[in-house]
Amino acid sequence: MKDWNEKCAVVGIYNAYNASILSYYSLFSMQHRGQEASGISSSNGEKISTYKNSGLVTKVFDENTLKKLQGNSSIGHNRYSTAGEDSIDDCQPIFAKYSLGELAIVHNGNLTNAKKVRKNLIEDGAIFQSHLDTENLIHLIAKSHKHQLVDRITDAINQIEGAYALIFLSRTKMFAVRDKYGLRPLSLGKITNPDGSVGYIVASETCAFDLIGAEYVRDVEPGEMLVFEGAYSKHITMPKSIKIFAANPKPCIFEYVYFARPDSKVFGRNVYEIRKKMGIELAKEHKIKADMVIPVPDSGVAAAIGYSRESGIPFELGIIRNHYVGRTFIEPTQSARELKVKLKLNPIAEIIEGKEIIIIDDSIVRGTTSKQIIKILRQAGAKKIHLFISSPPTISPCYYGVDTPDKSQLICANHSIEEVRDFIGADSLAFLSLQGLKNSIQNAGEEKFCQACFDENYIEDLQE
Ligand code: SF4
Repeated sequence: MKDWNEKCAVVGIYNAYNASILSYYSLFSMQHRGQEASGISSSNGEKISTYKNSGLVTKVFDENTLKKLQGNSSIGHNRYSTAGEDSIDDCQPIFAKYSLGELAIVHNGNLTNAKKVRKNLIEDGAIFQSHLDTENLIHLIAKSHKHQLVDRITDAINQIEGAYALIFLSRTKMFAVRDKYGLRPLSLGKITNPDGSVGYIVASETCAFDLIGAEYVRDVEPGEMLVFEGAYSKHITMPKSIKIFAANPKPCIFEYVYFARPDSKVFGRNVYEIRKKMGIELAKEHKIKADMVIPVPDSGVAAAIGYSRESGIPFELGIIRNHYVGRTFIEPTQSARELKVKLKLNPIAEIIEGKEIIIIDDSIVRGTTSKQIIKILRQAGAKKIHLFISSPPTISPCYYGVDTPDKSQLICANHSIEEVRDFIGADSLAFLSLQGLKNSIQNAGEEKFCQACFDENYIEDLQE
């Protein structure tokens, strides 16, 4: 799956030794959720310091920049390019001084009433420094007449709509908030400091916890705010929970299909296990004879293992992925696209030649990448190629914090499955059903998910 990008990763560390370094490692582990820019704000109890720039986490930060980000609390952000614009002003955290002191914010998601709120704020005299919907929150908090920051944040949250996993850092406290639908993930973990004291982490994915040795506690609930206070005290307690909204959970099902790292726990479940189950369900729905099952690496690997296990057809790593692809220096033409795929994926001709193969990928967006993959497999001598997709056809864009192409660009929105098969050049093409996808999620029962990119059932209250 390409061209369907999670816009951001967020992390917050509270009451932990070298908090900015822990944020750095957490952002590094969540690099897949945003590669265009990265930033960290930290507080030493008296002052918030921020450093952000464009590029990968390892490029943005070095020992010197991290040394300047002192203190026991910090928040961080990885950003994908099209949220806002490509300037440093549109990187996060957003930092501001206001009447109660200093504040930094990171946000994963998309505020659906952002334009309206921004227009009102501008008419009221606000001056904006970025194109980010998140900046609205700074103004709403600054304008609130409440005396406590927690009340000002609640005030501001009550005026925004949309998908959000937000973390706020003041000089002495941290706040984590999830929208009432819980569209974007946010988990809470516990850190044990070298002196035995306790700290906390909140992050988009639990792979961040694993890297820094934190222990998963639970998810931040939809509609909940966690308040972290008491830093620098040996007796720090569990964060205080405030229910801002009644929960109406509709977490993003696409996290399981593609976005999240397979080693993460998202919405309380391990992603790898679910992807493997998607492959099992796919094999139950689409049974054919073939010589081998091959994943499109890396996103199709777990589903291909599941498909192979259920069908009894041998699994082979017939395509090898080069993880070190940088920029391509040719014009953006059709052949550039071919080069881009070839730079990343190389089939092993010795395995594929003369064989009938099932290729497993997680989804199809524009269809151009699938077409190139089929082409290089034919060039490698495949006799027959069946492309099986471990999710339903993506027929509609996302408005809840995922960067997606326009509907006109989504091949499955505009063509029949047979037309798509013909375009990509596969011998057959099949998709997992929505029910099959739901069956893959353990204990899903009556649990509702956002699946609007598959069925166009958008959340009624969140129309732009
Ligand atoms: S529309 Fe799709 S990608 Fe967006 S939140 Fe819903 S399920 Fe996730």
